[in-house]
Amino acid sequence: MNPARRTLTARCCVVGGGPAGIMLGYLLARRGHSVVVLEKHGDFLRDFRGDTVHPSTMNVLDELGLLDAFLQRPHSEIQHLAGHVGTDTVEIADLSHVPGRAKFIAIMPQWDFLNFISEKARAFPGFQLLMNTAGDDIIREGNRVAGIRANGPDGQIDIHADVVVACDGRHSTMRSAALMQPRDLGAPMDVFWMRLSKKPTDQNAALGFIGAGVILVFIDRSDYWQCGFVIAKGAAERVKARGLDAFRNEIATLAPFAADRVDELKSWDDVKLLSVAVDRLDRWFVPGMLFIGDAAHAMSPVGGVGINLAIQDAVATGNIVGAALERPGPVADETLERVQRRRMFPTVMTQALQVFIQRNIIAAVLRSEAPPKRAPWIMRLLVSIPGFRRIPAYTVGIGFRPEHIEQHG
Ligand SMILES: Cc1cc2nc3c(=O)[nH]c(=O)nc-3n(C[C@H](O)[C@H](O)[C@H](O)COP(=O)(O)OP(=O)(O)OC[C@H]3O[C@@H](n4cnc5c(N)ncnc54)[C@H](O)[C@@H]3O)c2cc1C
Repeated sequence: MNPARRTLTARCCVVGGGPAGIMLGYLLARRGHSVVVLEKHGDFLRDFRGDTVHPSTMNVLDELGLLDAFLQRPHSEIQHLAGHVGTDTVEIADLSHVPGRAKFIAIMPQWDFLNFISEKARAFPGFQLLMNTAGDDIIREGNRVAGIRANGPDGQIDIHADVVVACDGRHSTMRSAALMQPRDLGAPMDVFWMRLSKKPTDQNAALGFIGAGVILVFIDRSDYWQCGFVIAKGAAERVKARGLDAFRNEIATLAPFAADRVDELKSWDDVKLLSVAVDRLDRWFVPGMLFIGDAAHAMSPVGGVGINLAIQDAVATGNIVGAALERPGPVADETLERVQRRRMFPTVMTQALQVFIQRNIIAAVLRSEAPPKRAPWIMRLLVSIPGFRRIPAYTVGIGFRPEHIEQHG
């Protein structure tokens, strides 16, 4: 036996401290269960991660009695989503009518959000978050997963659990360890992310600009703009070969209000490339282990709903697996299958909508050689219908089959 190897036992071991994992850890600990969450990084700091907290997530926070404390943390709020196409400005979504107290998208650095939830979770005795600790492999008992073999700052550690939930993101190690392969649904684009400063005279909103073969998105971060420069998949090297000056000029032409600050991009190091993927597992579990969040389904950035789906998965898992853990012993396959049945529908519907928009709008724009002069007539017609803007607002802000916290004994 390796003397350096420690052993821990918990009802649930969660691999990955992203939005899905931290929220699930909170929810299970709140129900009185012991839960160990493993996070391979030493902190939650990630630049250009999803930082949008949608009304569906804030409704969950409200049900947990956490919304007021959450909104006291620094954040910005977006209520209207608008697109600029040629000479047209079209307001695509108006969130002022979505159900719940928070009728806006809150923009908060993901690390602040995760710190907030994990601080609240630490108040429950069953919650244990092991930072700098990477889940490496699965511990098996017969054909079922019975725990996780991990590596932390003090060496190797075995966590034995009645259920393991893999929340380790789109490049999930646990998925590979369980020999699971997601189905690729295809994405026609990649995104360059960067920051530009924000001036008091700028509009407070999320803005989109469409040019020849490019879409430029500005997300309001209070004191700066988070900018996404959407290009055709694989075109990054071509864009870089044209040079940083050409890149800056393209931003300035598309978004003239930002022309006076494109020089803030000093080198390509200020521009980060995100390779966009849309995929999902057909089966979200093996005996003893469940996959949720990006580990089960990587979402397209269309609509910025990845975090919120991850949180909704965590709420469904907290309800279904949390109830099953009221009984002693390993969690049955049927319980894990119930989580998949509950969450597959919103995942499939959201991805279908994203893939439709990717194929029919984004791919067409990215193929175009000249900037459009006006927004497509169908778009202008739809947004002119009173109340229409509430539909995209509901789809983005609340989504399909919103989850609620189930009360327990
Ligand atoms: C550049 C970028 C921009 C995005 N923008 C948005 C946006 O604006 N809005 C939005 O809603 N979504 C956005 N997303 C998507 C969003 O970030 C994800 O959908 C969401 O974070 C998924 O949450 P998750 O908890 O499932 O996985 P993740 O957030 O990926 O978290 C996984 C966690 O597991 C940890 N981990 C991985 N492997 C191991 C291991 N073996 N052991 C222990 N820990 C491990 C990782 O360090 C990470 O903390 C963006 C994604 C990217 C990459």
